[in-house]
Amino acid sequence: MNIAFVTSEAYPFAKTGGLADVSNALPRALARQGHDVCIFMPRYYVVDQKKYSLKLTGSPLGVPLGSGEKWCALYESSFISGVTTCFIEHDHYFGRDGLYDDGRHAFDDNAERFIFFSRAVLQAMKSLKFKPDVIHCNDWQSGLVPLFLKSHYAGDPFYRDTRSLMTVHNVGYQGVFPKEVFPLTRLGWEHFSKDGHEFFGQINFLKEGILHADAVSTVSKRYSLEIQSREFGYDLADEFKKVSHRLFGIINGVDYTKWTPASDTLLPANYSINDMSGKRINKTKLQELMHLPPDGDIPVIGCISRLTYQKGIDLLVQSLEWLLQSENFNFVILGSGEQWIIDRFQYLKSLFPERLGLFWGYNEELSHLVEAGSDIFVMPSRYEPCGLNQMYSMAYGTIPVVHGTGGLDDTVENWDEAKETGNGFKYPENTVDQLYSTLRKALRACRHPDKWEILQKNAMSFHNSWDDAVKEYENLYTLLLNP
Ligand code: ADP
Repeated sequence: MNIAFVTSEAYPFAKTGGLADVSNALPRALARQGHDVCIFMPRYYVVDQKKYSLKLTGSPLGVPLGSGEKWCALYESSFISGVTTCFIEHDHYFGRDGLYDDGRHAFDDNAERFIFFSRAVLQAMKSLKFKPDVIHCNDWQSGLVPLFLKSHYAGDPFYRDTRSLMTVHNVGYQGVFPKEVFPLTRLGWEHFSKDGHEFFGQINFLKEGILHADAVSTVSKRYSLEIQSREFGYDLADEFKKVSHRLFGIINGVDYTKWTPASDTLLPANYSINDMSGKRINKTKLQELMHLPPDGDIPVIGCISRLTYQKGIDLLVQSLEWLLQSENFNFVILGSGEQWIIDRFQYLKSLFPERLGLFWGYNEELSHLVEAGSDIFVMPSRYEPCGLNQMYSMAYGTIPVVHGTGGLDDTVENWDEAKETGNGFKYPENTVDQLYSTLRKALRACRHPDKWEILQKNAMSFHNSWDDAVKEYENLYTLLLNP
C-alpha cells in the first residue's frame, strides 16, 4: 500500500509530545511490513537541513489559499529508516521558533498556517506523483485534509481511490478558530452549517476530520468509547457517536529498543526478569540525584508527567500529604508544566524534605532512571487517551498505580493476590480518597517480597510493541479500501 502519513510533528525532526513519537514509530513499523510510506510535515525552523540531509525535491508548489495562491518548496529526507519524509517549506508560516506557540501564547495565525498545510500536502502528493491508497491524518492540524479531499479534490482522478483515516490522539486539543478564517479554505459558506463546519459559531478543525474521514481512530479501545460521552468528548461527543460505526481504538505500541531494562544504555545498572539485582543500584542512584538519603529498602513511588490538569497531579499532591503522615516511603517526580502545581509540591517538600525528590524540566535520561529506580509508578490522569509510562513501568518491573481510564484501563489489570494475577493497581473514580487508598494498598503489598516478585514478573511479561499495533492499522486500511 502507499500510505501518506500527515502530521504536524515527528521525532527526531520536531517534537512537543507523544504525537511525534507515534509519527516516527508507526510509519517505520508500516515500512517494515513492506508498505511505501511517506510522512508529510511542515519544515519548521528547528528541522536542521544538514543534520537530516534535507534535499530539495519537485518544483515550487502553488497552494490555493483564500482568493490567492501561496508558493512553497518541498524537501525530502530519508533520515527515518525505510520511510521518506516530505517537508512543506514556507518561511512565513513555519520558519519561526516554536511549532504552535512562542512558548507562552499560541501563534495568532495558527488557523491560516494549518489550512495552508492541509491544502499543501494534497498538492504535494500530486506534484510528487505519490498516489496514496490511504491518507492517515493526525490531530486537528491535519483535520481539514479529509474535508478538502471530499470537496476540492472530489472529482480529481488522482485521488479517486484514496481513502482517509483521522487519528485523534487527544480530544482536549481541537483547533477551534473564529469563523472569519473560513474563507481561507476556499469553500462556500453553504458548508458553514451545524452539521458541517460550524461549531458554536466557530470552525473546529478536528470536527471536520471526524465528520469527513472515511474512518476515525483513537489510541485505545476504552478511549474510543469514552469520547462518545459528554464527560470525555469535550463538546464532540455527538460527533463521535455519529461516526461510532467507523470509530476504532488501537493502542500505541512501546519502542522496546529504547525501553528494556536489560539493554537500556541510559541506566547505571541493567537488570532483567531473571536477575533484578540492578534495580536496587538504580534506586540508590535515583535517591542520590534527587538529594534523598540513600536507602535501598524504602519503597519509592515515581511519577513523570506534564504538569497539567489532565494529568490529575493536583489530586496526587493531596493524597501524598495524607500518605506521608502514615506510611514510610520516598516520592520522586520529574515534570514540567504549570506553576501552580509546582508551588504545591514545593510546599509539600518543605514539610517532608527528606522524603520528596522534585525535578522540574524535561530530561530524557532521568526519565529512564525514574522508571528503573522506583518500585511504584503513579498516573492519576483525569483522562488518558493511551499513556505510555504505565507500559514503560511494567517493562521495568515498576508497578503502575493508575486511574482506570482510557489506555490506562486497557493495559493495567488489577493485582489479585489470591490468584496471583494482574500487573498493577487501578481505581475506578478519580478522587483523592481512592488514589490515597490505592497507593496505600500498593505500598503495603510492596512489603511482601515473595508476592511482590510475582507481581513484578507479571508486569514484566506484559508486551505491546509497534509490530502488534501495526497489524491493527493494516487491517483498518484494508477495510477502508475494501468496504
Ligand atoms: P502525553 O503525551 O499526554 O504527555 P504520554 O504518557 O502519552 O503522555 O507520553 C508522554 C511521554 O513524555 C512519556 O514518554 C514520558 O516519559 C515523557 N515525559 C513527560 N514529561 C517528561 C519530562 N519532564 N522529562 C522526560 N520525559 C517526559
